[in-house]
Amino acid sequence: MPDNDKKSETQANDLRDADPVPEINDGTGHPVSRRSFVGVAAMAGASLMSSSALAQSRQQAESGRQGDNASDPGPENTTLLNLNPNSNKPPFTDTGNPAPMWYSFDITPKRLEAGGWTHQVTDQALPSSKDLAGVNMRLTAGSFRELHWHLADEWAIMLAGKARVSLMQPNGKMFIDDVETNDLWYFPAGFPHSIQGLEGDGCEFLLVFDQGNFSEDDTFLISEFLAHVPPEIVQKNMGWTRQEWDQLPATQLYIFEAELPGPLEDDKRFLGSNLETTNQYTFKMSKMPPTTTNTGGMVRVVDSGNFSVSANVAAAQVILKPGGLRELHWHPNVSEWQYWIKGKGRMTIVNAEGKARTMDFNADDVGFVPSMAGHYIENTGDEDLIFLEMFKAPRYLAVSLNEWIARMPDKMAQAHLKLPVSVIRRAPQQKNNCLPR
Ligand code: MN
Ligand code: MN
Repeated sequence: MPDNDKKSETQANDLRDADPVPEINDGTGHPVSRRSFVGVAAMAGASLMSSSALAQSRQQAESGRQGDNASDPGPENTTLLNLNPNSNKPPFTDTGNPAPMWYSFDITPKRLEAGGWTHQVTDQALPSSKDLAGVNMRLTAGSFRELHWHLADEWAIMLAGKARVSLMQPNGKMFIDDVETNDLWYFPAGFPHSIQGLEGDGCEFLLVFDQGNFSEDDTFLISEFLAHVPPEIVQKNMGWTRQEWDQLPATQLYIFEAELPGPLEDDKRFLGSNLETTNQYTFKMSKMPPTTTNTGGMVRVVDSGNFSVSANVAAAQVILKPGGLRELHWHPNVSEWQYWIKGKGRMTIVNAEGKARTMDFNADDVGFVPSMAGHYIENTGDEDLIFLEMFKAPRYLAVSLNEWIARMPDKMAQAHLKLPVSVIRRAPQQKNNCLPR
């Protein structure tokens, strides 16, 4: 054995002790000792292996993707793997094992009721998402999400169809409005509100709550309030007799069918001077021009700057052209919770300690980016990719890596990137949000 192999063997022994796998089949039917296998690999990247037994050289990481190395002769869920080529065979730049960054509404249990359904992605499914949780709900024409309130603020986007929403402020003024696809609403915690599907096919929408552990099963309902107050108290409070109290719902209605409402103007006329007109709890994003547009796509930012009631949730709707790239960036304030509306793409997150993971996303999926972690999103499909970036913050903030490099004086940039200045300056010299194919 050559001398330099002995050095590698020492490292190989360390590795073997840390992770005892006795034999690896080399494909020829002859078992290869892990010692000699790791010895060769260690030699290839010996200089990079001293700090951590798990560290791999770039060569090792790349060779793991060649030949038979990535084959998987045992059982596989090919349906999932085909949806996730970048998780099945991650890019060689992925290292470590950051917390889960993907979930899908389409593998959550649906609560199906006469009148619609609901399902949710909370910190049960994505334990690192402490800031935000999401609920996806459908209401058929006329059906209500029962009058209720909750501990969290509610941000929402209409995904399909139309709804009438109402909210009463503590000062007794009622806000009421109709929303359609791509319109938003924002209901502060504790303010009672309603959602009703309108004519046609009702609606489907996404709710985002500023509590990662929010559960749509855990809300305050008008039915339950009245059902659990002694009838003689209800008689004192409302003047309703015991017989009338008996007709109230004994259990929650939650989602239920009802008659379609009349015109919005009639409801506003009914409210008269009690109609809230100062605070606007809906936002017509369908009519908003993009905040930034370039050849790769467009971004609409909606936060407390243009939607003033949205005090605790900021949002960006991103539309990326096929092959387009949501540029390398991070958010300097909070974690990011994504909802994927249309198309497909992949995202890599790069956390501290070089922990990096890439996954594929499709419509109805949820993505999660830990606070401050660098990331990009690439449209890997052949149609526009549309997704939402959601933040538990009053304002949307993002740092562009290209913009930062552009602001670095030549010597500073060169010292860090080890590239000639002419190459460094070939990169875009400003924030672009969306870069073309
Ligand atoms: Mn609600
Ligand atoms: Mn982002």
